[in-house]
Amino acid sequence: MNILVVGRGGREHSIVMKLAESDNADKIYAAPGNGGIAETADCVDINEMDIDGLIAFAKEKSVDLTIVGPENPLLAGIANRFREAGLAIFAPTKEAALLEGSKRFAKEFMQKYQIPTAAYESFTNADDAKLYIEEQGAPIVVKADGLAAGKGVIVAETKDEALQAVDEMLIDKTFSEAGAMIVIEDCIVGKEFSLMAFVHENHVYPMLTARDHKRAFDNDQGPNTGGMGAFAPATDVSAEALQFSMTEILQKTADGMMKEDRPFTGILYAGLMMTEDGPKVIEFNVRFGDPETQVVLPLLENDFVQVVQDVLAGKDPALNWADDSCLGIVLASKGYPAAYEKGIPLPDMNLPETGYVMHAGTKQTEHGLVSDGGRVLLAGARGPSLNHAANNAYQCLESFGNLDAFFYRTDIGKE
Ligand code: ATP
Repeated sequence: MNILVVGRGGREHSIVMKLAESDNADKIYAAPGNGGIAETADCVDINEMDIDGLIAFAKEKSVDLTIVGPENPLLAGIANRFREAGLAIFAPTKEAALLEGSKRFAKEFMQKYQIPTAAYESFTNADDAKLYIEEQGAPIVVKADGLAAGKGVIVAETKDEALQAVDEMLIDKTFSEAGAMIVIEDCIVGKEFSLMAFVHENHVYPMLTARDHKRAFDNDQGPNTGGMGAFAPATDVSAEALQFSMTEILQKTADGMMKEDRPFTGILYAGLMMTEDGPKVIEFNVRFGDPETQVVLPLLENDFVQVVQDVLAGKDPALNWADDSCLGIVLASKGYPAAYEKGIPLPDMNLPETGYVMHAGTKQTEHGLVSDGGRVLLAGARGPSLNHAANNAYQCLESFGNLDAFFYRTDIGKE
């Protein structure tokens, strides 16, 4: 069958690589893809948000299945539009994507269906929000309701910081419409982990747990980023916590969405915190996580195309996972997440046998591959334990040529 992957990051490279292992994948297209994806799929220069263009392309190339990486086209209704056009797509409708697109919607939903999460209130009025902060005290978390590319969450250590965040969002409108409504929630503590699942209506098939590292520098210092590395599985999550996350969080969410008349199809991602009272939801995403996907999918032993087809048909895909570990380290452009240079030639990469590379911000040029984004690529490796996987992945990076223009964290998986 012909498959179209929408997106341009490491996550999409990982999806393309897994699809390419399948005998069921005849032709793989990516829109718009990146330098690494172009080595496996046919990249077509259509923007992720150009839904008309994507539909026309899918018809022209007789695409049998479309998989979407990023959240923006989902919230813009790509799944609704593809289905209306009679095209198969493994992605949630815009109504279901609201689980990620509106934090207030997600919080109200969790409260209604008794899904464990931090207590909260939502506000559009700055004075009311400030009064609430004065009453609650710090630490406290202020979140823009809508999508803000990972920047709309302020974990405030002091009341002043929280009050300032309210001003920025509701008065200064730093996030424009995305911050016209805010959610203020209790600060909860514990180790974070992510759990993604293949979902179709009330059928939920969980993947392995994973942990990402969002801060730019070692020891979780520096600004938040799109993610600087990840590993799977998160071995410190107990079987009991995992079971709880599955039944009390993912399953209840899928069931609740059916009751809300917003049936969910696609990847449901729960960002969870292991608190003293058990796992609680920090956030939902409605698509594969990045960089978690780059370390979870390599451990999937099933035929990926078959999995998606089974899930869409309401059939148990009988997921099989390798029992080793996988770890990836992001190589970023110096300066990221602030300003950075593009167009720098990628280093020579002589990968050791256990290693692999997933491209994110890269581009093919007549002079070879060059950097084209903040997060350039992810160097990953597998190993019989987390430690082995970490050593192998770092060996992989150390085998690269000149890395002067780039940086990476040296502590991924070394907690
Ligand atoms: P992403 O970049 O994944 O899209 P986001 O902008 O949707 O992130 P969240 O995942 O909701 O933001 O929050 C970002 C981070 O802030 C979390 O990973 C967590 O570390 C911290 N955080 C969020 N909510 C809370 C909370 N209630 N208590 C403590 N920490 C929190």
